[in-house]
Amino acid sequence: MAILCLDIGGTKLSGAISDENNKLHSISTIPLFSGHDAKKIVTEAIIDFTDRVLDRNPEIERIGVSVPGLTDSENSVWIFSPFSGIRDLNLKECIGDKFGLPIFIENDVNSCALAEKKFGVCKDDENFMWITLSYGIGGSLVINNNLFKGTNGNAGEIGHIVVDDNGPACGCGNKGCLEAFASCNALENAFLAANPGEKKPIEELISKSFKGDKQVTEMFRDAGFMVGKAVATVANLLDIGAFVFGGVPLIYELMFDGISDGVERFAFKDTGLNIKRRKTGLGNQAALYGALTVALLGK
Ligand SMILES: [Zn+2]
Repeated sequence: MAILCLDIGGTKLSGAISDENNKLHSISTIPLFSGHDAKKIVTEAIIDFTDRVLDRNPEIERIGVSVPGLTDSENSVWIFSPFSGIRDLNLKECIGDKFGLPIFIENDVNSCALAEKKFGVCKDDENFMWITLSYGIGGSLVINNNLFKGTNGNAGEIGHIVVDDNGPACGCGNKGCLEAFASCNALENAFLAANPGEKKPIEELISKSFKGDKQVTEMFRDAGFMVGKAVATVANLLDIGAFVFGGVPLIYELMFDGISDGVERFAFKDTGLNIKRRKTGLGNQAALYGALTVALLGK
């Protein structure tokens, strides 16, 4: 079945078409501009993009979408995005019905977890957690082979586990959350604090570390230790045996030693050493494969 797969990010929209073997083709990306009416801007961009793709690919039968933030997946409503402030965007009405196609949506972190189960490195894991390491730190739990979304759809928010209550302020209003130590913002801020006047984007910090910069390498290791601490907390609570990491390319590799130290320090001694830690098998296309998986699973 040909499916149009869309990944809506904070600043860009990526799209791809799947074939009958569930391979993605014709992957393309357009920038998404923000403005005072983000809902209108994003809606128009999706309509325009979808219109052009369907024009060239009339064989498409379904649309799958990964979106940041909270979703009502049953009704294909994007309820809230903390980045853009978008609220209550009914993608079934404005995209699905407009083009006469069934549309299926899911939060991007959840969709990545589903994709990892179907196509990635977690095919054989009954219980695992997906973790996105990026400007935010998100997580999604798969328990007994199913997505566990919790009472309010907020399950898996590992970025807001408090790892040190004397830590820096977090965007959620709390102090010392994992995200305040190990997100890209936190790493960029830590570098700036240690090197006044030298604001560097995360890509540059990653490159510095790969070139052997000791200070930056230590920062990634310290951030990884906090990630490992949070991972151990989840593993101890739920007996989750596998964790898979995606997000900004190469960040997991730089945090790996710290994550291992944190897990070994804080996880139960009999099970902690056996916790599987892996990077995504889907590279930077995890959310597009997520959109595909959501559309394939959709009824
Ligand atoms: Zn927080």
